[in-house]
Amino acid sequence: MSDPNCIFCKIVAGQIPCKKVYEDSELLAFHDIHPWAPVHVLIIPKVHVAMLSEVDETHEKWLGKMLLLAPKLMKELGVTNGFRTVINTGPDGGQEVYHLHMHVFGGPRPWAKG
Ligand code: IMP
Repeated sequence: MSDPNCIFCKIVAGQIPCKKVYEDSELLAFHDIHPWAPVHVLIIPKVHVAMLSEVDETHEKWLGKMLLLAPKLMKELGVTNGFRTVINTGPDGGQEVYHLHMHVFGGPRPWAKG
């Protein structure tokens, strides 16, 4: 459920601070520490799943909630002209933190990730 060596699990546990924008029993969302866009939020499940290629049917509910949360958060954060969602998976996907997370980038271009 939780990996003691995982930085995002430590954020979930409150052992490392974050700029939180949303929390419920299954999800946490916070500002990326090195933003690539005017608004750059990470949405993560509280449970430790290393990457998208490791999800299964038991994760369906919070996976769906991650997508539903993205537009809601962008609206709350004042993003009115569209946004980009990215889930990096594995070495070739450019993943650096091995706790599944969805980047949500908002605000005027130019910006990119990876
Ligand atoms: P990845 O390349 O998709 O794995 O992206 C990992 C992201 O996590 C990067 O954009 C990092 O800036 C971000 N990150 C790493 N550590 C922290 C932290 O402690 N707080 C917030 N964001 C973090």
